Amino acid sequence: MERNNWKRIVIKCGSALIAPEKNGCSSHYLLSIAHFILRCREKGIEVVLVSSGSVAAGAHLFAEQERTLPIKKAMAAAGQTEMIATWDKLFDFATAQILLTHADLRDRERYVSVRTTIDKLVESGILPIVNENDTITTDKLKVGDNDNLSAMVAAACDADALIICSDVDGLYDKNPHKHDDAKLLDSITHIDQSIYDMAGGAVSDVGTGGMKTKIQAAEKAVSHGIDTFIINGFTELSFNQLLAGNNPGTHFKPHAAPMNEHQHWMTHTSNAQGELVVDDDFDSALTEEGEELTGASIIEVNGQFNVGDTVLVRKDDGTKLAKAKSNYSSCLLNFIAEQPDKKFADDFQDTTGPILSVKNIAILEKQ
Ligand code: GLU
Repeated sequence: MERNNWKRIVIKCGSALIAPEKNGCSSHYLLSIAHFILRCREKGIEVVLVSSGSVAAGAHLFAEQERTLPIKKAMAAAGQTEMIATWDKLFDFATAQILLTHADLRDRERYVSVRTTIDKLVESGILPIVNENDTITTDKLKVGDNDNLSAMVAAACDADALIICSDVDGLYDKNPHKHDDAKLLDSITHIDQSIYDMAGGAVSDVGTGGMKTKIQAAEKAVSHGIDTFIINGFTELSFNQLLAGNNPGTHFKPHAAPMNEHQHWMTHTSNAQGELVVDDDFDSALTEEGEELTGASIIEVNGQFNVGDTVLVRKDDGTKLAKAKSNYSSCLLNFIAEQPDKKFADDFQDTTGPILSVKNIAILEKQ
């Protein structure tokens, strides 16, 4: 591991660390994290903090027992200030609050603007503290958990490492709370279904994440070339080991040939607004670099989308091939797909330009 080369890291802390009693915030577990952040900054490593805890921090202010969505949103609004204040008092440098939804990250312009703001803050010695804007999210707008959010933020701000704090030492081959013989996995080079199976459905009872969302986050981050760790955030030892250059938990190794920035955003952050169902010719054209991609083989267009939206390209049998930026709206593509003479699509593209441009296509692993 070449940890000495890290220029920028993202560290993600969950609600259980910030509001362990589910009754307002406590700095009990945050002191060692704050110390770690300070030591990183002293070494010249820029730090971005992703912190949960707004709902857990605000819960004690409400009489209602039942946590309906409007109550949780109100708890988040009230608890966010307490959460930020709890972190802020641990540092003698300024902190800044960044509240995001998935709608911000999947919009390319806003995504780039998040990066510009983070760059400016860290350059000015300010610690950005990011959380999902739970007060305004809806099912359609939200990321839903801060593990995935932290990976999107790490990619957006081009971090070298993502450190995800957990309540266990890392990823085990089975649930360590239930099995005494569970073994900690030291290092993972490839994330596949067998890795997800080890995580089971483990969910924290304070936040919304669990081991599954941590692995999803690791998958997003390593494909951007980001060193990712799941560590025990409740013990100072983890942070001392990281500072000493050792791996205190599970290390997910970054891909040797990471996706380019735009393809990563398209694959892991943007949401497909519709689908293009294509035939086998299109499939082989996709895998032959430089091949002209024509609309002649588009069988079906699903959903409504605009020029510039991300679409999922799949085969008739459901196999997902790619995510791509559509150069045309669904309305126009439906018209093209419906023409009986397939030559129409070729002629159309010869004069007006291709439906998908090769540089805006992210090939997906076949599944
Ligand atoms: N954004 C949520 C909060 O601040 C937490 C999400 C999570 O636990 O992952 O309470």
